[in-house]
Amino acid sequence: MLSISHAVTGAFIAVKIGNPVLAFPLIILSHYLEDSIHHWDVGTGISGGTKSSALAFRHELFDLTLAAVLVLIFFPLSSYNLSSLIYSLKEPQIWGALLGILPDLLEAPRNFWKYEPVWLSPINRFHGRFHHSIPQIIPGLAPQVILLTLLWFLR
Ligand SMILES: [Zn+2]
Repeated sequence: MLSISHAVTGAFIAVKIGNPVLAFPLIILSHYLEDSIHHWDVGTGISGGTKSSALAFRHELFDLTLAAVLVLIFFPLSSYNLSSLIYSLKEPQIWGALLGILPDLLEAPRNFWKYEPVWLSPINRFHGRFHHSIPQIIPGLAPQVILLTLLWFLR
């Protein structure tokens, strides 16, 4: 799924659960479950050669920016300033969102730059077993719109 979906889901779980020991595995599990739903994301088409890695990377930067904005709209921080940027990593919506996109971040060097350290290969293969993307944008985005709508009302 899009980073938007994974980040907001991770933030949601972290905020609702609070306890990192319980939230961490649930957030990682949510990533794999969401990827198992047929979906469209910015990387769809790279492996089939219908989209270049460079274009997918530019789309991913946009996806990540929107993910950050949406996480902060869903779960605003108590204060915003640059001096507290590092401190905000302690906020559940921030670490939850980062953990929510972690499997995709680990896969990014392989997808965008054809670089995969040996130790990441089994993790990325495991991730790939769950990943079911489809080239149709509207049916691929629909489950993500439904997911985000549900999370908005449940937050
Ligand atoms: Zn993924």
